[in-house]
Amino acid sequence: MSEWFIRQEDVEIGPVDGRSLLDMIRGGSVTTDTLVRKNDSAWFQAGAVGGLFEAAAESTTEYFCPDCSSKVVKPPCICPHCGIQLSYARAKVSEHKIQGFQPKPKPKRSNSVQKWLQRVQTPRQK
Ligand SMILES: [Zn+2]
Repeated sequence: MSEWFIRQEDVEIGPVDGRSLLDMIRGGSVTTDTLVRKNDSAWFQAGAVGGLFEAAAESTTEYFCPDCSSKVVKPPCICPHCGIQLSYARAKVSEHKIQGFQPKPKPKRSNSVQKWLQRVQTPRQK
């Protein structure tokens, strides 16, 4: 498993796992300019890690027991509080805005229709 280290001013923080690193990005304590290293690698800017900020910007889903509102893992699961088998749970989706990072806009689904219309409308050139 990857261990991450984060340098903030002269202080080195770590090791943290990937999930904690994502939380730190979401919390704003790690930005694209923050120096990080993975295991024993050299220091590099967090923004250079492919897909890292994209992953942090993705929405996350939390699940809650419909009976007692305890936080549970993705169903099917057993609620740790009431011990009942859950086939579904209440889901809470959280969007994340990352400071100083703009995720690339996802292609719109209507694009293919627009392209198709353009093809139809544009006379063929030979
Ligand atoms: Zn429960």
